[in-house]
Parts: sequence; structure tokens; C-alpha cells
Amino acid sequence: MYIDSHCHINFPELAARMPEILAKMADNQVTHALCVSVDLPDFPQVLALAHQYPHIYASVGVHPDYEDTPEPTVEQLVQLADDPKIIAIGETGLDYYRLEGDLEWQRERFRTHIKASRITRKPLIIHTRSASEDTIRIMREEGAGTEAGGVAGVMHCFTESLEVAKAAIEMGFYISFSGIVTFKSAKELQAVALELPLERILIETDSPYLAPVPFRGKMNEPGFVAHVAEYLAKLKGVTVEEVAAQTTANFRKLFNVAA
Ligand SMILES: [Zn+2]
Ligand SMILES: [Zn+2]
Repeated sequence: MYIDSHCHINFPELAARMPEILAKMADNQVTHALCVSVDLPDFPQVLALAHQYPHIYASVGVHPDYEDTPEPTVEQLVQLADDPKIIAIGETGLDYYRLEGDLEWQRERFRTHIKASRITRKPLIIHTRSASEDTIRIMREEGAGTEAGGVAGVMHCFTESLEVAKAAIEMGFYISFSGIVTFKSAKELQAVALELPLERILIETDSPYLAPVPFRGKMNEPGFVAHVAEYLAKLKGVTVEEVAAQTTANFRKLFNVAA
């Protein structure tokens, strides 16, 4: 049994195919998926999916790539997170790859999410791209992570170095691998995955993006997370059952959800 720790099934191309998506999840033994919020206008739809389907959890947050969108306050995030199906704060973080110029607003928005996570005691879903130094620095400054009295979270769709992974793990965070780790060109990332203990790893699709091999280039969906697990099992020389059981246990522990 697998859990997709990060997807965007509220996006129209996936939301229109919900029955098919749930059937594919069942076929592939994917019991749950976490539908991750990217902005406040779309949040009601994310929450509605979580309320409608027992297999779907949700988060609340505003993605760092969304520049022209209502800015959340700490109070707003705390209030919107007050629902048993909202199990995380995010996705949040920093992205210096997609956007340029003065990105102080991104850092401020990231700090807002960390504060909300500390108040709600719900873990953070962190997106970081070409910004790992500032990401780790702000996590430390704002008291993200168990060491600092926060509740940690996950570094999602991880593509950074082993050093960055270790810094996050030291703060109590988990590292989530997407279909990128299955790509032939992802040698450095595969080396990182090989090095990290299974006890700190989650798996995700980030669908509709980044379909894993053998579906690369196609529209991704939560059912495909099984292929990420199969790849990690081969890479690490363990059974796929072991990867499935451990990543599922990791998800349940981090997000505090019972089986
Ligand atoms: Zn992301
Ligand atoms: Zn995402």
C-alpha cells in the first residue's frame, strides 16, 4: 500500500477525471493522496475534495511561484487549517529558479507559513528550487523543525544536494522523492536517495507534473506513485513491499494520521 504525499488533483485536468483517478489509485494499491494547496482562491476546491473522498487529505498554503495572488496572513492560515482533513501547511518555500528580481515577498510569505505551522502544530510542505541556502536559513530563523519546538515537515520534490537533505533531516524533516528520481539523467539525485535512510523518505507524484518512467511526458496522477517506490526499491536493493510499508509509516507519523 502506497500514499502519494504530494499531488494537485484539484487542477482542472485531473479534477475532471476523479472517478478514473480513484480507480487507478485502487488498482495500484495507492490508498491515499495528499492534495496540496497552491493559493487561497483554489483552497475551497481542495478542501471540498478532501471532504468528499476519504482517500484524499489536503493542506492549506500559497505556493512561492504565485506572485499575483492574495497574500495569506498567519491568522488566515491558522483558521483555514482548522479542519481534520487539513493535515499540513503549504506548499510554501522559495523558488529563485522560476522568478527573478526582489523576492523578499517570497521570504516573507515563507515565514508566515512557518509561523502558522508552529501555531497549528501541522507540518510544513516545503518547495525549494535554486534557493536552498535561504530556505534552510529561514527554516532555522523561524523555528521550523522539532529541535526548535516546531513540528517539522517534508522537503517535497527533492532535487537538492545530500548536504541540504542532511540539514533538513537534522531539523526533523523528511525528504520526498518524485518521478524525477526515476529519470535517466538524475544521477546526482539517485546518489542522494541511495544515501538517505528509508526512515526519512516519502514518495510523491506532484501530479499532474513529472510523471515517472515509464510514463515520462504523459499527464501524471497519484496512481503512478507506485513507480517511484519501485524505482527506489531497485536503487536501494530492498523489496518494494519494504519501501511501501516504510514510506506509508513515515507519512502517517509525520502528518499524524491513523491507519
Ligand atoms: Zn512544489
Ligand atoms: Zn506541488
